[in-house]
Amino acid sequence: MNERQLRDDIVRIGQKLYAKGFVAGTDGNISARLTNDRYLITPSGCPKGDLNPDQLIIIDTDGKVISGDGKPSSEYKMHLLYYNELDNINAVVHAHPPVTTSYSVSGKRFKTDILPEGILVLRNLAWVEYGTPSTDDLPLNIAKYLPHSDIFVLENHGLTTISANLQDAYMKLEATEHVARINLYSELLGGAQSPGKDELSKIMKVYGLLDS
Ligand SMILES: [Zn+2]
Repeated sequence: MNERQLRDDIVRIGQKLYAKGFVAGTDGNISARLTNDRYLITPSGCPKGDLNPDQLIIIDTDGKVISGDGKPSSEYKMHLLYYNELDNINAVVHAHPPVTTSYSVSGKRFKTDILPEGILVLRNLAWVEYGTPSTDDLPLNIAKYLPHSDIFVLENHGLTTISANLQDAYMKLEATEHVARINLYSELLGGAQSPGKDELSKIMKVYGLLDS
């Protein structure tokens, strides 16, 4: 994919994050792999709903700015961890969607196995222990869950999703927040129930994720 297209896609994902209420103020950050050792990332201190494609920064594998004005997102180390560790990852989206983040600050976990589509998308969700943002602590804690996870609920912080492309990474973030919200609403009705082990195996077989 060409650079112009990627820049436009990042802007569009930023607008979605804001429209959905997944970020407030200058929260959140988005990046995409440009080449093997170049990455486009949102700048530090910018509202994600108002990004301009030319504002995006290009960094290398060490986080050094290659082009663009200003500083890259302060969470660039978290983004680089995924790219440096996983060849098949081309996009990282990070936000603070309120329901997922509420679980992450309350010490409670929501159920990921309550809806058929949710079971599929959220099957590799990781609950990551708290690490100070912008330091090496957060990437170090996330690294424990690689390469088997693609959705990371960050304790007392928010949510990060990764994928081969931006749209899919965003979709995972939105799907996770949706399942978290269903869990929260279900609490009013006595709590969410899983369809049970046998049904879960059946669903996984239907999706071709389990040998029959
Ligand atoms: Zn954050």
